[in-house]
Amino acid sequence: MNIPFVDLKTQYKNIKEDIDAAIKNIIKNTSFVMGEPLKSFEKNFAKYCKSKFAVGVSSGTSALHQALLAAGIKQGDEVITVSHTFIATVEAIFQVGAKPIFVDVKEDGLIDTDKILNAITEKTKAILPVHLYGKPVNISKINEIIENKNIKIIEDCAQAHGAEFKGTRLPISNIGCFSFYPGKNLGCYGDAGAVVTNNEEIAEKVSMMRDHGRLSKYEHLKVGFNERMDTIQAAILNVKLKYIEDWTEKRISHAKVYNKELKSLVKVPEITEDIRHVFHLYVIQTKKRDELQKFLKENNISTGIHYPIPLHLQPALKQLGYKEGDFPLTEKLSKEMLSLPMYAELTDEQISYVCEKIKEFFHD
Ligand SMILES: *Cc1c(COP(=O)(O)O)cnc(C)c1O
Repeated sequence: MNIPFVDLKTQYKNIKEDIDAAIKNIIKNTSFVMGEPLKSFEKNFAKYCKSKFAVGVSSGTSALHQALLAAGIKQGDEVITVSHTFIATVEAIFQVGAKPIFVDVKEDGLIDTDKILNAITEKTKAILPVHLYGKPVNISKINEIIENKNIKIIEDCAQAHGAEFKGTRLPISNIGCFSFYPGKNLGCYGDAGAVVTNNEEIAEKVSMMRDHGRLSKYEHLKVGFNERMDTIQAAILNVKLKYIEDWTEKRISHAKVYNKELKSLVKVPEITEDIRHVFHLYVIQTKKRDELQKFLKENNISTGIHYPIPLHLQPALKQLGYKEGDFPLTEKLSKEMLSLPMYAELTDEQISYVCEKIKEFFHD
């Protein structure tokens, strides 16, 4: 048996007719930029997030960039985030001229909220928590910490479409940034992203700045950007949005099977009633990570590591002045975490095969 890490081909086969028709329709109407399907996707996705506004942009990275910009984060400001994330989280902070300040994570890979207070200075203007792997961060805890301070929360929801904390769907604070990169829980056929908010002013700013600071065709209020979402991607996402709840429930049920089979062998993610973890990634933890990954590969099971090099140790971010040992848990997780195959289309046989092989590895 051959088990890929993600399987977008099977997903496409299941929805081929609708997708093909949606794409053809855009080509027929030549409404490639800012067409009607973009407006309807924005409406549909806002509703899905139980928020008032969603503004489509060109990627998850531009969603973070536009959100920071709209929140007024600028040169000289500090933004507190984690080193245990994809580099895009931090690139966006640089794009507005601000400086990322890292804090460590907890055992589950999410920001350690107890470390935030100590990292706050007069320059701190935003906290950028990442709902990593699809597990929601406890945003109300962060809200308590920044109460009465002029600090904003911008949530990186790139891996957490449909995740909920105590019944509240993300984003919990005022601004959430989503990615529709193909492998994400809701993925398009290229690059796209969205900023989701209840704040009309933020939505309007993003809407204008993603599109050349436009007021009308040739009237520009600000020097903006070309960070729009293609209409073709919006049309594809409109089709896929119909399936996201079903796909998410399947991910959660696969995670429960993995947990049951593997909990005596490796550290497995906690599944609790008060949060809806949407399992963009199903991540286990073991000191024998590298050997296990090699063994699974020899048995045609693809896995991933999210992420092998913490951001504070990346050559690109050397100027921040961090060194090995600064974030012990982040560094430990980078050596011990392993992401197993996870997607709605995984079959019972495939999951059993993965679990069987992991048992074989630990018992031999
Ligand atoms: C995917 C991802 C991004 C960036 O999204 P793109 O659409 O690839 O630009 C940002 N943050 C996290 C945590 C991600 O996983």
